[in-house]
Amino acid sequence: MSSSGSGSRQQVFVLVGGTGDLAIRMLWPSLAMLDQDNFLSDSLRVISVSREKLDHGAFVTRVADAVKKRIGADLEGGTLDRFVRRISHIALDASDPTWGDQLKAALGADMSNLDVVFFLSVSPTLFKPICEHLRNSGLNAAPNRVVIEKPIGRDLASSKVINDSVAHAFDEARIFRIDHYLGKETVQNLIALRFGNTVFEPLWNAQSIDHVQITIAETVGTGERLGYYDEYGAIRDMLQNHLLQLVCLTAMEPPSGLSSDALRDEKVKVLKSLKAIDASNVLTNTARGQYGPGFADGQKVAGYEAEKGSPSNTETYVAVKLEIANWRWSGTPFYLRTGKCLPSRATEIVIQFKTVPHSIFGGEAKPNRLVIRLQPDEDIKLSLMNKAPGLTAEGMHLQQLELSLSLATAFDGNGSKPARRRIAYERLILDALNGNNAQFVRRDEVEAAWAWVDGIVEGWQSAYPKPQMYPAGTFGPVSAYTLLDRDGRTWND
Ligand code: NAP
Repeated sequence: MSSSGSGSRQQVFVLVGGTGDLAIRMLWPSLAMLDQDNFLSDSLRVISVSREKLDHGAFVTRVADAVKKRIGADLEGGTLDRFVRRISHIALDASDPTWGDQLKAALGADMSNLDVVFFLSVSPTLFKPICEHLRNSGLNAAPNRVVIEKPIGRDLASSKVINDSVAHAFDEARIFRIDHYLGKETVQNLIALRFGNTVFEPLWNAQSIDHVQITIAETVGTGERLGYYDEYGAIRDMLQNHLLQLVCLTAMEPPSGLSSDALRDEKVKVLKSLKAIDASNVLTNTARGQYGPGFADGQKVAGYEAEKGSPSNTETYVAVKLEIANWRWSGTPFYLRTGKCLPSRATEIVIQFKTVPHSIFGGEAKPNRLVIRLQPDEDIKLSLMNKAPGLTAEGMHLQQLELSLSLATAFDGNGSKPARRRIAYERLILDALNGNNAQFVRRDEVEAAWAWVDGIVEGWQSAYPKPQMYPAGTFGPVSAYTLLDRDGRTWND
């Protein structure tokens, strides 16, 4: 985008919700690491805003503790001292009509000399009042921009209300909707892998690929987020955003360039090509589960309803068979799944190629498989058939071997030092500071994703009202296995 007006202006990063969970766990550590790696301009100031009254010493200690806790091992001497000189906190309540004017006074300088990023790390219910304050006080003027976090609504109608309220203050080019998966190194590498090589493109279609599986598995339950989670469930919390973004990057056509519109135009085409799932086909195309009693993440789990203390139809697991109605993917299903209290934590994309058309090795030639792993380790593996070494009386045998491109052992540009694993927010904060919104989600993407998800949710209401129980610590409900069994396939567990 073009609104990086920084130029000679002084940059300010306003972290609204600077005392909250996301800020403490992710955002302050990300900012400190960007500082250490010399990505922040010397004059950049970071201003935290929330209701809590904190004197400067207590605030600095809290931020320094958060940074040390998250990335202590990677901190170099001097980084923290330099970083905390940039930061300050002001106590302001977003329900106060003078919020904007008070913030403007704190920014101090003539606005025409500033280039401000407002990162709203607060509940989405505050997006509207905060954007109104920014507008009323003139803080919304270009090149200033706003970063907002998921959830952008809980369905298409509510996402439009949020998008409208933000759009009232900022034009689309200055709205940065975060999906932190887009900041992950391996997700970015997916773009490099697909469009920086020629070997994959001729095979990246329904002629060569049998199916695709995308999994985001968590070992943890809902924990302290239960109140929020019960309103959303797995489909709204994970599938509408992270899983569908991974589908887009896997399935999209080659963009004409890396500009934000070139990339996002191609992603939105994928979302608009998804075959509808509604009451008529929701039973055969989805699986819904909720964890019951069991053991997960090394602990005894009472079960979702017991944790909540009342009955609930919220799903903690969802699997979907998704079909993309276009020339490239017609006939190649994408199976998506995500859930809580599963046996292992993993995020991966599995590209399952077709079997050889005629096997001269009996049943020994297994189809190739490309596994792009995002979590817990970042790794790309391509399984290939090889001749098993050695001599046997019966003749040649095959064995499956993996070509591995482990990002954990990748080297940085300076020689032998292993590359540090970055927090996804580092990339995204840096892009927001530079005014580059290619890795942020455009309004039409959010709305196309909701429109498709709404069909499933509405279908569930009439045809699949109750999730199926699965014991905590297992791979999900039986219906998730039936989903693939029906097609003669299995999950890559
Ligand atoms: P949180 O822990 O509840 O923090 C909210 C922040 O907002 C606090 O700093 C709070 O500080 C401030 N705040 C609340 N009411 C305010 C008001 N009236 N005026 C000014 N400040 C106010 O929330 P969070 O978990 O950090 O989440 C922040 C955003 O990120 C949300 O949109 C959430 O959905 C999203 N998100 C979070 C995570 C995560 O892992 N935490 C993951 C994905 C997305 P005071 O109480 O001092 O005002």
